Amino acid sequence: MFRPLGRLERMDSAVNKYDIWIAGAGYAGAVSARALAEKGKKVLVLERRDHIGGNAYDCLDEHGVLIHKYGPHIFHTNDKKVFDFLSRFTQWRDYQHQVVANIPDPAHPDRRGWRLQYPVPFNLTSMEEAFGKEEGKKLGDKLIAAYGAEKKVTILELRQNPDPEIAAIADYVYEHVFVHYTMKQWGQTPEEIDPNTTARVPVFLSRDDRYFQDKYQGMPLEGYTKMFQRMLDHPNIEVLLNTDVRQYLSLEEYDIFLRGAGMPLPVPLIYTGPLDEFFGLCYGRLPYRTLDFKFETWQARNYSAPGMPYPDMEHPLRCGDFFQTHATVNYTMDEDYTRITEFKRLTGQELPGVTTIVKEYSRPYIGTPRETPYYAIINPENNALYAKYKAEADKKQQLHLLGRLAEYKYYNMDAIAARALELAEELA
Ligand SMILES: Cc1cc2nc3c(=O)[nH]c(=O)nc-3n(C[C@H](O)[C@H](O)[C@H](O)COP(=O)(O)OP(=O)(O)OC[C@H]3O[C@@H](n4cnc5c(N)ncnc54)[C@H](O)[C@@H]3O)c2cc1C
Repeated sequence: MFRPLGRLERMDSAVNKYDIWIAGAGYAGAVSARALAEKGKKVLVLERRDHIGGNAYDCLDEHGVLIHKYGPHIFHTNDKKVFDFLSRFTQWRDYQHQVVANIPDPAHPDRRGWRLQYPVPFNLTSMEEAFGKEEGKKLGDKLIAAYGAEKKVTILELRQNPDPEIAAIADYVYEHVFVHYTMKQWGQTPEEIDPNTTARVPVFLSRDDRYFQDKYQGMPLEGYTKMFQRMLDHPNIEVLLNTDVRQYLSLEEYDIFLRGAGMPLPVPLIYTGPLDEFFGLCYGRLPYRTLDFKFETWQARNYSAPGMPYPDMEHPLRCGDFFQTHATVNYTMDEDYTRITEFKRLTGQELPGVTTIVKEYSRPYIGTPRETPYYAIINPENNALYAKYKAEADKKQQLHLLGRLAEYKYYNMDAIAARALELAEELA
């Protein structure tokens, strides 16, 4: 049952009614809630937003286009258990994600709108687009002879090759695909970029243009939110929206107390929100990157949108009923945004004459209420800060941390679903 406004009528009845509390209705919260409910547990889910689905939430915009409010989400996994679990709540649209890098065309550096684009990860097709058909083919054959077909070779490996032509490919990929994009995404200078990350950038000796090679890939046929609605629709689950769990809790050294009831929370709490906020930021804020999303809706036929400059009609990327050629186009060398995603290309929604895109701008998270912390900035200093909060959390027996915020790490959707199923198993 969903209640739009969070209010537990009486704390004492709330205490007796549920076997477990879960804060957050994203993947971590919703998957664990369902798994526990099916094991007979009465579950209370408290979600501070006015919707379920966490960052995977999707909805129709004012033009009727299905958009992902917190950035484009593409499902992919090799984990059959997770795929089977989610498939109980949705059918899938067969979708294989492809991403292209878009850079100024070096042959026409002065002509605005003349651009080159090729698949990322950089592969044999990219090589031919970047270096010309013949030269690209020659270099591709050379790489295959050195490393074997269908292999992913890192630019570190290429740099270590004594053949200067091969080493030059590594430099090209570093400059045109990796370094500027990473600087935008993480706000770093090239010197600050971890050499281990740089070393892992792959060149794919293949013509497989897919971004992921996982066995199961797709988009929920009716969207993520529908999938979450079905997942949470269970007689043992109650969901309160617009409810921050912290309003009901006060923290003591070894216990979590129920505010107003004068007693410790007698059941486990799965917390999927930011760990620093749970402890009132007592050791300071955990650093994150956030994203500003700029949504634009375009009339597909002439691409003019109210208030927008009339676009360059010579632009080689405008095509058919769509804004761009692929669902996601990465701007790896210029522009302030990192990438543009066009939702209709992801979702397959048929809506002639109109299309919505989103541009992503990355910047530091400072913790204002309108911001969302998106990417944990993993480094030794931040890990040490997280460890202090974790030590506090470990003292509290009822508390179980789950998810990208509570664990201060990046999870793909399949990985957090897998972890949520595991935790439910442990708690049940
Ligand atoms: C831009 C972007 C794109 C991504 N694209 C992909 C992709 O293509 N494929 C992929 O596999 N993964 C992708 N991910 C990762 C994916 O978003 C995560 O795996 C997923 O959101 C993790 O789920 P979660 O439940 O841990 O966190 P969230 O989705 O953030 O859910 C946490 C929920 O807890 C709620 N909450 C927080 N604090 C409280 C509180 N005190 N009380 C009550 N509720 C609270 C929040 O409101 C939120 O709804 C992407 C991530 C980003 C940032």
